[in-house]
Amino acid sequence: MSTGDFSMGMYFRRMMPFLARYWKLVAVMLLMAGLHSGATFGRVLLAKPFLEKVFMQRESPDAETLDNLVEEKGAGCVDAWFLDYFPESLQKKRWLRVLASLLDKDAAVEGADVREYFYFICMVAVFLALVLGFSLFMKIVVQRLIVNSVTMDLRNHSYGRLIRMDVGFFDQKRSGDLLARVTADLDLARQSLDHLVAALIDKPIYIFMGLGICMWISWELSLICILGLPLILVPVAILARKIRKGAAARQQRLGDITDAMVQTFHGIRVIKAFGLEKLEIRDFATRTRQYFRKDMTVARGRAVSRSSTDFFYTAGIALLLLVLGGLFISGSGIGFGGASRVVTFFLALGMLYQPLKLLVKAYNLFQESAAGAERLFEVIGQARSVQERPGAQVLTGVKETVEFRDVHFAYDSEEVLRGIDLEVPVGTTVAVVGPSGAGKSTLLDMIPRFYDVTGGGIFIDGRDVRDYTLESLFQNLAVVQQDPFLFNISIRENIRQGRPEASDAEVEAAARSAQVDAFVAGLPEGYDTVCGERGGLLSGGERQRVTIARALLKDAPILLLDEATSSLDSKAEQEVQAALDELMKGRTTLVIAHRLSTVRHADVIVVMQAGRVVEKGTHEELMNLGKVYAQLHRMQHPGEG
Ligand code: ATP
Repeated sequence: MSTGDFSMGMYFRRMMPFLARYWKLVAVMLLMAGLHSGATFGRVLLAKPFLEKVFMQRESPDAETLDNLVEEKGAGCVDAWFLDYFPESLQKKRWLRVLASLLDKDAAVEGADVREYFYFICMVAVFLALVLGFSLFMKIVVQRLIVNSVTMDLRNHSYGRLIRMDVGFFDQKRSGDLLARVTADLDLARQSLDHLVAALIDKPIYIFMGLGICMWISWELSLICILGLPLILVPVAILARKIRKGAAARQQRLGDITDAMVQTFHGIRVIKAFGLEKLEIRDFATRTRQYFRKDMTVARGRAVSRSSTDFFYTAGIALLLLVLGGLFISGSGIGFGGASRVVTFFLALGMLYQPLKLLVKAYNLFQESAAGAERLFEVIGQARSVQERPGAQVLTGVKETVEFRDVHFAYDSEEVLRGIDLEVPVGTTVAVVGPSGAGKSTLLDMIPRFYDVTGGGIFIDGRDVRDYTLESLFQNLAVVQQDPFLFNISIRENIRQGRPEASDAEVEAAARSAQVDAFVAGLPEGYDTVCGERGGLLSGGERQRVTIARALLKDAPILLLDEATSSLDSKAEQEVQAALDELMKGRTTLVIAHRLSTVRHADVIVVMQAGRVVEKGTHEELMNLGKVYAQLHRMQHPGEG
């Protein structure tokens, strides 16, 4: 469940490892942002020398040259701080001295006239335009590169985490909600990165640079503005939490909507057959309305946050202008260094507003999208309950036995397996029968560690399965289930999944042994026929034979068959049974069967009831015993003695 209490610290802790891989790109991006912000404010700063060296000089009647400025300080005097950063040889260069004198109201270079300054300012403007264009282009490309790379890594990582989760994890989750988390929420995580990289890291550079420049123009005016800053920032910070919480709740509703969709797709036959369309439509509309409400809550928070920023910023500037205007009208002069300084200050302040506004907007959107990242990290951050033990050994086939020793298991609190003892010698077949809900499938699920036992243990050749590596355990097992699952790829590729490196000839040999070739011959595309979603373009019996061929190709020593023929009619059952007999040859097999006739020849038949083994023996022994097995047999074969 998403709580909305996901802290920003947690967001950064989870996201940083992904971002840190691209630190070089982040450095380039920061450099470009610095260049771009410098050029942006430099552009504004040009207004000041233009006013001082060109415009105002032109206004005075005899100002062809600016020697009046020079005379005041001595010939050719330029004492701008800017020059100190250059080596002495360069300090004498006229172009640099002209540039330096642009920054100082009271400095000029000897002989420089208004025209020279004007051309120079134009050249600087062109240079700034080039820097602006280049740095902006680079910044955008690098930002996209970072966001796309991190998103790609995050997507791959999420899939990698999910696919390695144990079966119990998927039992507990709603598939629609999971789907929403790895699609819509992952996309929100991408957006959060976008806001982070393109605004939250980037815009402060502009703001600090702008503030620095404002300070340089007039520290008194800047200080007044900085004192007013909390008016803007406090409401933004308060609303941010509300937005994040609202967004988390909204994403949860989106999960509900996706879940309803997935349920509908899976259950469409039931919906049609029972005429449930109207009910489902009503239920869906309730979910979309809930989503709508939550989204409006978020939108309101966002709107208040942004409008309050606009309001306080404009009101603050108006107040400042009011004070300056009052000073001017009262005749005490505009103060703060004169008109050119005040005008440039307001120009710079105006430029500062854009990044500030974008920062606030991005901060809100970031809070909102971070809620998606939270939901994503919540699922992919879960630890597997089935873990590989340190120093686990590689299982290389069965030499002696597969053995259950006092196995207990509970899905929740109630035990489903209650002290199972069972030995399956290598190469033999043990059949498990019993009433529905007795725990037969659960028993088989313990061997591949779909779930881990809660008591006792399962041993292969005397070693606990938990002491083998998971990979080697899976390699030694083949599973054929009641509901055969095929991927939506060709028959050939479905079979090849048993052993991806197998040649076409090996695939076809397995297909022949599993009697797949019998129906493939009738298909226009043969082995290249695509099986459809979940193998839906093939019949149940055909699907089952393909899964048997897949298991044959895998050639694993341990075979788990879970009612592989129970859903088939008798003709299909015969065909599949023949394929199964082929598969079982020489393997250590555990088979669950509802139809007792299919397991009559098993080496041992185990009867389970309420999580316990109640009878064990061959068909004849159990019939002679005349208890549960014999009763089940009589029910299924009423004609037989
Ligand atoms: P059937 O022959 O009907 O398939 P079974 O003998 O194979 O039944 P299991 O499927 O192992 O029985 O189920 C044993 C018990 O465990 C049942 O009461 C069932 O409701 C419960 N159970 C099965 N799977 C889960 C699960 N994933 N989560 C919680 N309980 C489960």
